[in-house]
Amino acid sequence: MEQLFFFNFSGRNLPDYSKKDFDTMLVMNGTILKTGFQLPFPSGPNVKAINLQNATVFAGFSDAHVHFTQTGLTRSGANLDKATRLSEVFDLINEETKTSDMALAFNFQEQSLEENRRPTLAELDKISADKFIWVARKDLHSAILNSKALEWANNFIPGLKHQNGFVSGENYNPISYKLLNEISDSLLLKGMQATEEECLSKGVVCIHALEGSTDSDREAKLAADFFKNNKLEGVVYHQSVDPNFAKKQGWAGFGGCLLVDGSFGTRTAALNEPYADSPESNGNLYLDSAAIQELLQRARTADLQLAVHSIGDRANDLVAASYAWARQKYGAQPLSDRIEHFILPSTRAIRAARESEALVCIQPVFDLFWGGKEGLYSQRLGKERAARCNPFKTMLDLGIPLAGGSDSPVTPIDPILGIHALLNHSNTEERIDLNSALSLFITEPHKFAGKNKTRGHLKTGYKADFICLSEDPFMVSPARLDSLEVTRTFINGNEVWGCHNLNRS
Ligand SMILES: [Zn+2]
Ligand SMILES: [Zn+2]
Repeated sequence: MEQLFFFNFSGRNLPDYSKKDFDTMLVMNGTILKTGFQLPFPSGPNVKAINLQNATVFAGFSDAHVHFTQTGLTRSGANLDKATRLSEVFDLINEETKTSDMALAFNFQEQSLEENRRPTLAELDKISADKFIWVARKDLHSAILNSKALEWANNFIPGLKHQNGFVSGENYNPISYKLLNEISDSLLLKGMQATEEECLSKGVVCIHALEGSTDSDREAKLAADFFKNNKLEGVVYHQSVDPNFAKKQGWAGFGGCLLVDGSFGTRTAALNEPYADSPESNGNLYLDSAAIQELLQRARTADLQLAVHSIGDRANDLVAASYAWARQKYGAQPLSDRIEHFILPSTRAIRAARESEALVCIQPVFDLFWGGKEGLYSQRLGKERAARCNPFKTMLDLGIPLAGGSDSPVTPIDPILGIHALLNHSNTEERIDLNSALSLFITEPHKFAGKNKTRGHLKTGYKADFICLSEDPFMVSPARLDSLEVTRTFINGNEVWGCHNLNRS
């Protein structure tokens, strides 16, 4: 059996990532046999030595909240991210209609265009009247459809309401799930392969994949098969109110972005007080406390962890109180339940979350993209409430376990960007230190999935999944952290990505 001998690097572990903990490592069968300082080169015929060239080495990153098949889907079709005018948008869609019967376009944002508007139904029909065209907004909460696509959508929602082809709100979610059903397995597979490549290039060795819906277990199945046959490790959560499929698969949890409420962007996150920029609206509550308690009961009966999506303060109050109720009723669980996002929690909700021992999966890049005095949160909520969003330090100081996720495709799979966001929080009082920030993307996600006994540290008996960084992050100023690069990624001791790969494409 071949042994791998790694040398010449600065290996880091908790409790203090800033200190060099080891500089040599021996790996066999994907598992770490030994780490130490200046370990002797092992004797025996089958040893391969690998010089890590003075890199700073951490256990691999994880992303605890990814919509994997959906991310893959947005990587197929036309990417409108760089378009600056409508004519470019039309050209990109036109190209897509030439190679596919269903022309899908992603990452549309009207504010990026000179014209600052959406395409109209007539404009899309002019590109093609007989091929299906679907132009998704970047937030994936709405899309613009041509006549052919509207006709298709009418099969599911007769009399579907749209504004000149634009579909949003309550009508959007069901047809977006139906769209996913129309996508062939092979196209989804292609998308997942591209997403895996992206993960590895960002040092991500494991993701928590939140897949499917109550109506469909297909994407959860496809993702699970993908992880079995590929390098990237995945923990799959089936986004269903029914735990049976997850139970049958032998998974530890179910749920994911099971919507208790919506999002701030579309003004559907449930608030105690109305939206600042839409005083008639308090958002939507999709599940009440009886429904959340019912989910918790099912989770306990199936002996599974539950995860739900909760963003606004009204939703967070309900979820945290329900979780505290379940903790009282059923006692401590080997794997506590998860709350996804928890963006605007009241003091009461934070206290209840702590009491319930809930695990909170946060998206630090949300603050980077939408926080701050001029950001989207301030527009939607007013400055006072916006300043209370994403209270990372408050929660960490209270001992609430946090793990970092991207909610990809909403923000990119990029833990370094997440760490940058944590140290540069728009609210200076909610910034956390680099050591904790790193742990949120290295050790904590494995705890959330109950895999921390073999993953997330570089120690004897742990999996040899690790990354090399271009610089020591502790020597880089917080404002410049996003310039750090992952130069090599290893899974089971094998190099699965290196920045020399860049030269190939
Ligand atoms: Zn969500
Ligand atoms: Zn999500």
